[in-house]
Amino acid sequence: MVYDSLLKTAKEHQKEYKYLLERGNYNNMLKALPELNDEAFEKIDCLECANCCKNHSPRFKQPDIKRIAKSLRMKEGDLVANYLKLDEEGDYVSRQKPCPFLAEDNTCDIYDDRPSDCRRYPYTDEDVLLKRVQLTLNNTLVCPITAMVMARLLELEGNDKRKNR
Ligand code: SF4
Ligand code: SF4
Repeated sequence: MVYDSLLKTAKEHQKEYKYLLERGNYNNMLKALPELNDEAFEKIDCLECANCCKNHSPRFKQPDIKRIAKSLRMKEGDLVANYLKLDEEGDYVSRQKPCPFLAEDNTCDIYDDRPSDCRRYPYTDEDVLLKRVQLTLNNTLVCPITAMVMARLLELEGNDKRKNR
């Protein structure tokens, strides 16, 4: 798979990433995120990856269902019946993996109307990355962008500590 080495490195650094997210300088990291996010998105092509669409389902919230059903010219009930199921938390998620809207070339058939979770994933420019430690750690194992951002955060925090010695 493309970007395998990034995921491998992330697997090897899980403990350090956990420590960093729990004990690192929150404000410094939050400030660094927009630039690290842009840098990772410039270097990594999601169309060569699509790991998130292949391995995870977003939540399909009511506004998402409404918008997607309209764009597919389907009844909301038919969209739910054909593609979705309720998960343990009571959210609608995709019935199947990969996502039924993932095309063969890794594009999304409903890109303009995709669920808000898909728009936000992988949360690398949001405080979610710092606050939801386990989610972020899990994402480093499937998402090369998250893996790259965490590697860079670790590097920056290390440099910062050396400067302050
Ligand atoms: S809706 Fe589109 S972006 Fe979201 S998981 Fe499915 S294919 Fe991926
Ligand atoms: S967001 Fe992450 S997992 Fe999803 S396609 Fe882009 S690099 Fe891959």
